[in-house]
Amino acid sequence: MAHSAAHPAPHSASAGSTGLLARLNGAHHKLALNSFLVIVLAHWAEHLVQAYQIWVLGNPRPQARGVLGQWFPWLVSSEWLHYGYAIVMLVFLFLLRPGFTGRARTWWTIALAIQFWHHIEHLLLLIQAQTGTIFFGQPVVTSVVQLIVPRVELHLFYNSVVFIPMVVAMYLHLRPNEREREQMSCSCAGHRSEVRPLAPHAA
Ligand SMILES: [Zn+2]
Repeated sequence: MAHSAAHPAPHSASAGSTGLLARLNGAHHKLALNSFLVIVLAHWAEHLVQAYQIWVLGNPRPQARGVLGQWFPWLVSSEWLHYGYAIVMLVFLFLLRPGFTGRARTWWTIALAIQFWHHIEHLLLLIQAQTGTIFFGQPVVTSVVQLIVPRVELHLFYNSVVFIPMVVAMYLHLRPNEREREQMSCSCAGHRSEVRPLAPHAA
């Protein structure tokens, strides 16, 4: 993956998806990460509005559908809205991972692994909603861990345990140590050509 030392020009001929992946993790990593963050925050907004509808407004849970769900209830009842967010997040976490190095890569990988499972849970819900077959002998569509934890609380938890390592990864990515910076081919931490002070804050 990290052939950048041998090929200093990332815009060279390597065509197709390889070239796109290289650009997403190189020149466009910052833009791609920011776009992803907007999507993630929109998703959080949905869940926080839903929490407000339940615990502040006292709405019954089936009527607490977040922002988009208020206007397009079928998006929620069909499970497409939830699944859409889950698969988009999984794809972004997967595609933007090579741009991370060192400790940031480790934290990003943790977020990816947890999101993979979160996505499986949503896939189970989607299959039940689409086929009309409800698993686990439950009255409503149900995912595996939902057998233990109620759905709203469970997904607040899932979103937190994906978001926290993501934020840690992004923080470390913006503040790499020397070795991590050497391996980076993006501009997220500033350009390497910048003159960096020799002050003793190399911690
Ligand atoms: Zn980057």
